[in-house]
Amino acid sequence: MARKTSTDKPSIQTNVVVSGNRPTGDLHLGHLNGALKNWLQLQRKYGCFFFVADWHALTTEYADPSGIHESTKSMVLDWLAVGLDPDTSVIFRQSDVPEHAELHLLFSMIVPVPWLERVPTYKEQQEQLEGRDLSTYGFLGYPLLQAADILVYKGDRVPVGEDQLPHVELTREVARRFNRLYGEVFPEPRGEVVRIAKIPGTDGRKMSKSYGNTVSLGDDPDTVYSKLSKMVTDPRRARRTDPGDPADCPTFKLHEVYCTDAEKAEVTEGCKSASIGCLDCKKIMIKHVVEELEPIRSARLDLEKRKGVVTEVLEAGRDKARKVAASTLSDVRSAVGI
Ligand code: SF4
Repeated sequence: MARKTSTDKPSIQTNVVVSGNRPTGDLHLGHLNGALKNWLQLQRKYGCFFFVADWHALTTEYADPSGIHESTKSMVLDWLAVGLDPDTSVIFRQSDVPEHAELHLLFSMIVPVPWLERVPTYKEQQEQLEGRDLSTYGFLGYPLLQAADILVYKGDRVPVGEDQLPHVELTREVARRFNRLYGEVFPEPRGEVVRIAKIPGTDGRKMSKSYGNTVSLGDDPDTVYSKLSKMVTDPRRARRTDPGDPADCPTFKLHEVYCTDAEKAEVTEGCKSASIGCLDCKKIMIKHVVEELEPIRSARLDLEKRKGVVTEVLEAGRDKARKVAASTLSDVRSAVGI
């Protein structure tokens, strides 16, 4: 086995952020307040690789991949409109960088299957996504593909929601095992738990395209108003004169994200004493949502007029990503000795 000596160690940079998103169509307020605002902050501080995880989309959509291409375009437009900057961050599509697949293959040689079977989301998602046959290797192996996604850039910072931490732990174990077997090539990335504001959809469930309860980043002010003015509230406020409690109102979760402290206090008092109606209460929040979405919508409209902008961004990102990924794979091949 070709072990590297300490003098010819491959370089391990620090503060490399890697994060991706499955292309699932138009992005919405849940995405904006989840990953995207966090990515914008990270982009100012670190070298970031943001990728469209189209191979990951295939793990569940393999039987009907027809929407992945369009969703990829739409997602990149949203990313750019929100402010991800292709000159600062590397923005690319996973399937344009075959090194992810090669590293995934090499990792599959050294990772015991039980490591994958015990990832908590594996069984949970299989149960949730019933009606699809997810007894595939691709579905079992997707956390390993995620490990390759991160380690191919020697990423050492991985922004995740709490439920994704086991995946980062798996990535650390994979890096440790590889380094122990072949010499030190990979950093052990840290999962950085991001506080994600939970955004309910208009029906009070989690905001999700599959529930049809979203406010999209591209919605115009009338559409935003029409969707949010019908959003569910505290059921105790059946009549205007019935008092309610913001703690039991899904709409107020949006107030918590978008309104000032003074507005929240005013609404809370008004709700509990029934001195404010739900529509007037919602209008206070809707104004802020529209203020946030309008610049994004207008940036997106401008971008849509620039023919080929998504292709341009993805091609430039692919070239930058492949340069780094190829260098890692060269370290990997030489460490493994093939
Ligand atoms: S007044 Fe506001 S906080 Fe109270 S139930 Fe209606 S929408 Fe919700």
